[in-house]
Amino acid sequence: MLHDKDRIFTNIYGIHDLSLKGAQSRGDWDKTKDIIAKGRDWIVDEVKASGLRGRGGAGFGTGMKWSFMPKEDKRPSYLVINADEGEPGTCKDREILRSEPHKLVEGALLASVGIGAHVCYVYVRGEFYREAQALQRAIDEAYEAGFIGKDACKSGYAFDMYVHLGAGAYICGEESALIESLEGKKGQPRLKPPFPANCGLYGCPTTVNNVESIAVVPEILRRGGAWFAGLGREKNTGVKLFCISGHVEHPCTVEEEMGIPMKDLLEKHCGGVRGGWNNLKAVIPGGSSVPMMTKAQCDVALMDYDGLREHGSGLGTAAVIVMDKSTDLVRAITRLSAFYKHESCGQCTPCREGTGWMWRIMERINAGEAHVSEIDMLENVSRRIEGHTICALGDAAAWPIQGLIRHFRDEMEAKILAKAGTHADAAE
Ligand code: SF4
Repeated sequence: MLHDKDRIFTNIYGIHDLSLKGAQSRGDWDKTKDIIAKGRDWIVDEVKASGLRGRGGAGFGTGMKWSFMPKEDKRPSYLVINADEGEPGTCKDREILRSEPHKLVEGALLASVGIGAHVCYVYVRGEFYREAQALQRAIDEAYEAGFIGKDACKSGYAFDMYVHLGAGAYICGEESALIESLEGKKGQPRLKPPFPANCGLYGCPTTVNNVESIAVVPEILRRGGAWFAGLGREKNTGVKLFCISGHVEHPCTVEEEMGIPMKDLLEKHCGGVRGGWNNLKAVIPGGSSVPMMTKAQCDVALMDYDGLREHGSGLGTAAVIVMDKSTDLVRAITRLSAFYKHESCGQCTPCREGTGWMWRIMERINAGEAHVSEIDMLENVSRRIEGHTICALGDAAAWPIQGLIRHFRDEMEAKILAKAGTHADAAE
């Protein structure tokens, strides 16, 4: 359980003063100049020591990612912050933009020193208009105070920060599609390699990080990597924003220690599952892209990367979607299939065609009009998509369906058999 003294986001609900003055009273922009003076290597080493893993879903080591940026290169380097947050169920980055924007601006400056960048772009999802305004206000305040600009915090380091609004495509949350979109092109993922650290924005070295990953950096550097590493579990360190939606009494976004038991998370912060814990049917623990878990798994699951992987699922964006016994799981996953079909960028055949195939089969199963053998065919199609595409959207479309078949095949069969029974009765 997270103690208040270890809380990073002390104004995540936006109830305190949002201005620079208010942010400073909560500890933001404290000794930033001293941290910059410690230099690029110190910053990267400290973030590595913290064990911070990317909070956008993939969970790659943030310090490690920064260390891939070239040190001697004639081209400029860029920091790009991914504020696209399109994963269904996820609503954490918008809270940071809205209520803690100074943590992001300060984090962007320090991360940029760490990777040798002097320019940062924040790619904000188009629908987050108010959030983009709140961030722009914070950037303007930071410029005015001299915290960023030609001589950031009087450190001699030049740093500029720009907000860019996207147009609302889910795939622009994929880092290389985001870069393409930022360059003014169609938001389609690039083939890798080359990776962005070698050839990213405008063909220059680029690091793309999630909003939450950057917003926690100032506090890590102020308190030390060892402090952050002391929270959570080994290889799953620190604190994390969890966003819990669905059938709980009080859906919310809350900061907690990594590795908290799922049951504690839901009962302590959300008033528990609607109708009590025993009314729980399934949970999608990390945004719509990860496989769902049964109640038996949720009884013992720990909310971190390894804890959820042990149960065949994943932490993803830590968007916990709770479904009680009233949920029609087949219908719910059919709806998600429609989403992925709609959001496929169409570049690669397994994803472009396969997401449509899976959605159509799911529609037929949901309507009870499929044959039971089509469930195996659906599983087969999902395996042919998974791991055979340019970006992870193919996996994201396949995994929810695989989770449904793995744990709730009986519900799929029941729909088909019920419809078949109705037909037989009518024939009689
Ligand atoms: Fe586009 Fe889908 Fe291929 Fe990703 S997997 S590049 S979204 S077609």
